[in-house]
Amino acid sequence: MKAHYGYKDGAGDFFIIIDTDPCIECEHHGCVAACPEGVLEIIEDDYDDEVAAVTEEHRKQIKYSCAPCKPDHDRPPLPCTTACTYNAITHSW
Ligand code: SF4
Ligand code: SF4
Repeated sequence: MKAHYGYKDGAGDFFIIIDTDPCIECEHHGCVAACPEGVLEIIEDDYDDEVAAVTEEHRKQIKYSCAPCKPDHDRPPLPCTTACTYNAITHSW
């Protein structure tokens, strides 16, 4: 399942998408430690599997939470996606 966290407004779509199928298999949860803004956490889904999610606090401000990782020019690799060896994290912007 693809879980979408974020929002869309006049400026665009701002979603972090977590592919929970590979995420269930992950034992290192490296995305959580890699994120300097504390955007990600591990939750239990409806089947009691541990998966990554965007914290409630950051869901409505994700564009701003992730801004330090996303300069307008020469964007470096994102810490969260780099840490995710399962390629389970994508960003819509
Ligand atoms: S590192 Fe990737 S696969 Fe592991 S918990 Fe985070 S999002 Fe899921
Ligand atoms: S882009 Fe940066 S702030 Fe946003 S979730 Fe990834 S590591 Fe965290």
